Amino acid sequence: MLFYSTNKQSSPVSFSQAVLTGLAEDGGLFMPETIPSLSRSFFQEIDKMPWPEIAFQASQAFLEEEIPLPELRRMITEVVNFPVPLHELSPQTHILELFHGPTLAFKDFGARFMAQVLSFLAQKREQKTVILVATSGDTGSAVAQGFLNVPSIEVILLYPQGKVSRIQEQQLTTIGENITALEIKGTFDDCQSLVKKAFTDIDLKRKMQLTSANSINIARLIPQSFYYFFAYASLSDKNTPVVFSVPSGNFGNLTAGLIAQKMGLPISHFIAATNRNSVVVEYLQGQEFTPRTSEKTLSNAMDVGNPSNFTRMLELFGHSRSQMQEKINGASFSDEETLAEIQEIHQKHNYILDPHTAVASLAWKKYQKEIFPDHQGVVLSTAHPAKFCETVQQALGQEPEIPERLQKCLEREKKTTVLSKEFAEFKEFCLGR
Ligand SMILES: *Cc1c(COP(=O)(O)O)cnc(C)c1O
Repeated sequence: MLFYSTNKQSSPVSFSQAVLTGLAEDGGLFMPETIPSLSRSFFQEIDKMPWPEIAFQASQAFLEEEIPLPELRRMITEVVNFPVPLHELSPQTHILELFHGPTLAFKDFGARFMAQVLSFLAQKREQKTVILVATSGDTGSAVAQGFLNVPSIEVILLYPQGKVSRIQEQQLTTIGENITALEIKGTFDDCQSLVKKAFTDIDLKRKMQLTSANSINIARLIPQSFYYFFAYASLSDKNTPVVFSVPSGNFGNLTAGLIAQKMGLPISHFIAATNRNSVVVEYLQGQEFTPRTSEKTLSNAMDVGNPSNFTRMLELFGHSRSQMQEKINGASFSDEETLAEIQEIHQKHNYILDPHTAVASLAWKKYQKEIFPDHQGVVLSTAHPAKFCETVQQALGQEPEIPERLQKCLEREKKTTVLSKEFAEFKEFCLGR
């Protein structure tokens, strides 16, 4: 299968090429040329299948020409090695807990799968591969965990000094081994521009094989469709139509759900749940799509003013707004509403939501009341509440319980190298390794 660019100005490429280049030459995002349908028997037997088998069958058609199938199976077993429980809040509302991976956020699925694919591709090369990742918090540690101790791969994480939370910083800077964290005296944009410059630098290119691991990589999108299948497999009632409410920032999560639906998964509707950064919601409500600078909110992983996967969503609906509106409803909520929702769910159900999940919970409740009273809702829970202690504390006056693996990482010693945002300094650091 080939992967085409959403800008349609460059030629389609193989999966490996799409993964290694990240972005198409014409600046577009890669999309699979066709989306295969899974068989009727797959869906009839889905609740009897082990999850790695579900994931294997859901990804096989995209990847089989380039990854030998036993290798693909092995990768999936490495990636899907933690539980994904479907927690029932009420008969009509389920919370899909996507936060039981190593970094307690749903990004573990995509980042770990991409790490597996990149290390497989790197084995074919002679040089050591260096993965550069600019991160504003969550992505860096998820990617790094995926590459931890992978032979012939080194990961350099760049994060903006003083602009990530304490927990995020501990997660980024205590991994060690083949993972190096650089604390950049600048913003996330400065980190990103250092990475971009590195890719065009001749000296660096000569010395090492550089690869990026950014969020638009197709190898992160495909595995994010797996858990929609897992959720469906876990539902005891498969006759009541299912609506997925997805906390959204760059819309990679929701786009993966659309792909699962195209593969035949019986999803009735999606709800795009956002905070104040609501350009996609506005588009769904009939306004122009107008990207703008993002606003800071409590659900900060969704503070995106120009969601990169929107172009993939347009492709999936043949650039028709009305077709998109038939499948996706949008809603956006304020920080005050988010805090109140954390409180309400805790009071009613003795269950603690993180702020991102709270936004999706609000969105499901709104549409359940207005248009889906006869449906069941799956609210995707994208982060463990302990990752957002301060916000939970603010809402409930108590902190959530900290899982052991997070506690351990909080106790470890931080190791970083502090660099200015000057490219020369960064380059010298890389060449000196
Ligand atoms: C990244 C992230 C999101 C947004 O996911 P997208 O795929 O960018 O829409 C939501 N919640 C959490 C906790 C995240 O880390």
